[in-house]
Amino acid sequence: MNMDYGDLKQKLKGELLVNQKDITPYSIDASIFSIMPNAVAKPLDSADISTLVNYAREHKPTNPGLSLTVRAGGTDMTGGSINDSIIIDVAAHMNRIEKIGDDYAIAQPGVWYRDFEASTLARGLQMPAYPASKAICALGGMVGNNAGGEKSLSYGQVKNFVEGLWAVLADGKEYYIEPLDEAGLKAKLELKNFEGDLYRSVYRLLADNYDAIKLAKPSTSKNSSGYFLWDVWDKNTGKFDLTQLLVGSQGTLGIVTKIKFRLIKPKRSSGLLIIPLPNLDEVGHIVNTVKSYVPESFELYDKSTLDLALTYLPEIFRKMKGSRLKLAFNLLPEIFQKLTGRLPQIILFAEFTGDSPEQVKDKLYKAHAEIQNLYKVKTKVALNFESAQKYWTIRRESYNLLRMHNVGKISACFIEDIIVHPDQLPEFMPRLYEIFAKYPSFVYTIAGHAGDANFHIMPLMDFKNPDQRNVILQLANLVFDLVKEFNGSMSAEHNDGIVRGSFLSKMYSPEICELFRQTKAIFDPDHIFNPNKKIEATAEFFTKSLKAG
Ligand SMILES: Cc1cc2nc3c(=O)[nH]c(=O)nc-3n(C[C@H](O)[C@H](O)[C@H](O)COP(=O)(O)OP(=O)(O)OC[C@H]3O[C@@H](n4cnc5c(N)ncnc54)[C@H](O)[C@@H]3O)c2cc1C
Repeated sequence: MNMDYGDLKQKLKGELLVNQKDITPYSIDASIFSIMPNAVAKPLDSADISTLVNYAREHKPTNPGLSLTVRAGGTDMTGGSINDSIIIDVAAHMNRIEKIGDDYAIAQPGVWYRDFEASTLARGLQMPAYPASKAICALGGMVGNNAGGEKSLSYGQVKNFVEGLWAVLADGKEYYIEPLDEAGLKAKLELKNFEGDLYRSVYRLLADNYDAIKLAKPSTSKNSSGYFLWDVWDKNTGKFDLTQLLVGSQGTLGIVTKIKFRLIKPKRSSGLLIIPLPNLDEVGHIVNTVKSYVPESFELYDKSTLDLALTYLPEIFRKMKGSRLKLAFNLLPEIFQKLTGRLPQIILFAEFTGDSPEQVKDKLYKAHAEIQNLYKVKTKVALNFESAQKYWTIRRESYNLLRMHNVGKISACFIEDIIVHPDQLPEFMPRLYEIFAKYPSFVYTIAGHAGDANFHIMPLMDFKNPDQRNVILQLANLVFDLVKEFNGSMSAEHNDGIVRGSFLSKMYSPEICELFRQTKAIFDPDHIFNPNKKIEATAEFFTKSLKAG
């Protein structure tokens, strides 16, 4: 699609890039896809976003391919932040923290989470649903994906921390969206404008399908798949919260221009219980035993991840605090295990937190004693930052290391975010490994959130090899079928995008998929927001957009 954006350029206060060299970096995110955009807009403010939406709506009849895809940090693993028309880069200018209150903060979508966290922590506050990519992602993308991370076991995902959203919707106007009580909803339903139409349509859709929608809610502890219709309206309390539809919608329903986050006071003390396991026989049972002691976080990484970290030690050191000598000394046991071929198969580590070191030790040592007693495995305890940081660093850097050192291969995200119920782990894990056994030539790493039974599985694949490209959909089908059998979700936190959108009909009934389609049509009648993602994604678009290698 060749367009002359001259008139748009004049209307925008921010920049509009059309030069190939400038727009090429926007053709990729952290997914297995690559799509060249037509132009990149860097809005100065929400008025610029309104200008973009009005422009797209007005020119759509003559340019049907025109669309708007918003991008914050661009670390999406699903192809959510790439597309073939106009990309809106909110990180360029819309990156101001407007206010930090006693238990909330208001910030623009382009604020990097690392800056946001530094500012909130300086006030003794935190938005704890941050992802492992917290150093490289921004707030808009965290909301767009309904991100989650190491603290989600205790605090849940981003959706739990959104108190209000400002968003530019399909009519080009900016709205403040917040949870409403019955009176608030009634007032919205009586509005004679686009906002009123929107509330009326969503309300009708929910009222007409109330029970089916509630039943469709995945029973896993986390979910980022589909539109979260089940969380919008509670008939019993009367609460009606449209923020829950925008969160996790990957910019397919509107563009978030400002976010009000709830903040918590993080606990002051913490300690780790580390459980390296020589085999996977009892993983499921061990996870459930540790969970009964209520750790704040409970993570895992596998032998391949540890091996990778030890191979690229200088990079790991760069991410850690302290002198290299001390860090190397701390990692000596693992280095020795690698040299002698005795690396553990999987490393589980649970973080216990509290308001005092005594509180932490109490829970931690009880869990420690029971694990040793029940399973006869060796465990370790790390009570200070120096001894704990190697586990956190290896876990947080697991995927980054893989994608930076894949030599001609792609660390392929497509089955990278599955989740089941933790009680099902003893049955689920062997079945999962049975599937991988069918592909013995694949190298892959597994890391993830043990406590939620959420696994990040990254196979290394050669996209130049047509056989390997073909395997992607095959393997995805097998794994997602298994996940469905266990009533799990295809995506706990990374969302659907292009990569899982076409599989939504596996996870949800035709009736619910139709309601997702209607939701998209209600919010985006002119079809301008991030097309071909989530419920609109197809296997054809998936294959067409795959990276060349
Ligand atoms: C190394 C690595 C580790 C990761 N670990 C995790 C993890 O632990 N947990 C996790 O959840 N994810 C993880 N991710 C995926 C991703 O980093 C997160 O989901 C992150 O929150 C995305 O933020 P971003 O700013 O990069 O978003 P982007 O990639 O820019 O956007 C993500 C989605 O949100 C939409 N969006 C962006 N801005 C807006 C807006 N203003 N309004 C509406 N929609 C918007 C985009 O269109 C896109 O669909 C990881 C990625 C990498 C590369």
